[in-house]
Amino acid sequence: MTHPQHPQPKGTTPVLQLTRVTKEYPGSPPLRILHGIDLTVDHGELLAVVGPSGSGKSTLLALLGSLDRPTTGRLRFEGHDLAALTDPQLAALRAHRIGFVFQQFFLLPGLTTVENVATGLLYSGAPATLRRTAAVEALREVGLGHRLHHHPDQLSGGEKQRVAIARALVGNPALLLADEPTGALDSASGATVVDLLRTLNAKGTTVVVITHDRDLAASFPRRIGIHDGRIDFDERTPHPAGAPR
Ligand code: ADP
Ligand code: MG
Repeated sequence: MTHPQHPQPKGTTPVLQLTRVTKEYPGSPPLRILHGIDLTVDHGELLAVVGPSGSGKSTLLALLGSLDRPTTGRLRFEGHDLAALTDPQLAALRAHRIGFVFQQFFLLPGLTTVENVATGLLYSGAPATLRRTAAVEALREVGLGHRLHHHPDQLSGGEKQRVAIARALVGNPALLLADEPTGALDSASGATVVDLLRTLNAKGTTVVVITHDRDLAASFPRRIGIHDGRIDFDERTPHPAGAPR
């Protein structure tokens, strides 16, 4: 599973390794949403997940981010079998290793941008002053150093999503998961958000993005198609050495 631009040293553990993962929601009969997903994601990958509405993409992303547990099958994160971890251990793993970005931003309306971004470190154990300094730094990274004390309702959609990205990256996660991050944005703001995700990826963060945008998906080095809870295709674009991505 070696990636052309990111040759893996021998023995490198994948970020994610799913073996026959299923997900059911309770009911009579139970509703099976994911049917035996096998998937490996290596460090440094930039991957798009595409598929029709209702096919199970968000359900899969919740499992990848350990927000939810598989019904059956095994999910390893950096080699650790998540079934062996308690809920508090999973929460700690999310706090230290995983960032999330959603179409609806999920910013807290009563907080300034700095305060919103600092919540990304709330469960990290970092003291308040350090959380704040890191939040300012993350906001500068996403180009919002001049919007530190705005509230979400004073920001454009694109700016809100950049705040959400700053909150996701402030803890320096190994894995960033984004569920239709450009879905609520105009094309110019969406392009800025995608540029940020690419920059993060270029710095070494593994990035998985659910998207309905065909052009965006086509520009990614790897695409996974989900259909009726199964992996329909898993394709990679070969990039000649030295070519821009
Ligand atoms: P996608 O993100 O590809 O649009 P989802 O993963 O959100 O699809 O949903 C896949 C299917 O699972 C849908 O049919 C949806 O109605 C169902 N579903 C999602 N969450 C739940 C839940 N908590 N309980 C029952 N069914 C659910
Ligand atoms: Mg969805």
